[in-house]
Amino acid sequence: PGTRASRPSQPRRLTVLSGPSGVGKSTVVKELRRRHPEVWLSVSVTTRTPRPGETDGVEYHFVDSAEFERLIASGELLEWAEFAGNRYGTPRAPVVQRLEAGQPVLLEIELQGARQVRGNMSDAFLVFLAPPSWEELVRRLTGRGTESPEVVQRRLDTARVELAAEKEFDTTLVNTSVHDVCDELLTLVVAP
Ligand code: 5GP
Repeated sequence: PGTRASRPSQPRRLTVLSGPSGVGKSTVVKELRRRHPEVWLSVSVTTRTPRPGETDGVEYHFVDSAEFERLIASGELLEWAEFAGNRYGTPRAPVVQRLEAGQPVLLEIELQGARQVRGNMSDAFLVFLAPPSWEELVRRLTGRGTESPEVVQRRLDTARVELAAEKEFDTTLVNTSVHDVCDELLTLVVAP
């Protein structure tokens, strides 16, 4: 009595993966999705334009500014942030629904959003994904090749500030290998 096992409807932990842009969050999450489709991953809304290969409803729900404004005003977002000139947010209802059904939930979001989740959902578990080194982070941010130099520079500036946020997190995973980090993240996501 009183143990989690005796209360199967106890909401599972909400795990938040965050970290600097370019650290490899989306690669880790993609690998997790491939190897562990049972882990439910929140699909964010964004005002950003789709990149080649991205599908509406898979990586993101792509919306215009007016629709994003409406979602904010109606309280439908669990958190949202402006990042590099675009807006990103987590639809609240699907997250709450999954947690209440006892399913693990994973959010992959930037730092301002992670802070909001910390404030909104007291039992959220925050995971910081750190680069092996600053040099490696710069290499990854400049090597993606899909953004203009101005956008890359903006992301580097943001990343420098974001690295200092590690201390606000419950734990840190260093992204030396996508495979290893994915395994470690899975352990955290499904932990009771
Ligand atoms: P990208 O444009 O490269 O897909 O994403 C840019 C940044 O936005 C990444 O750091 C990503 O984690 C973050 N992001 C994606 N979805 C959300 C969201 O729903 N909320 C917040 N706060 N950040 C998000």
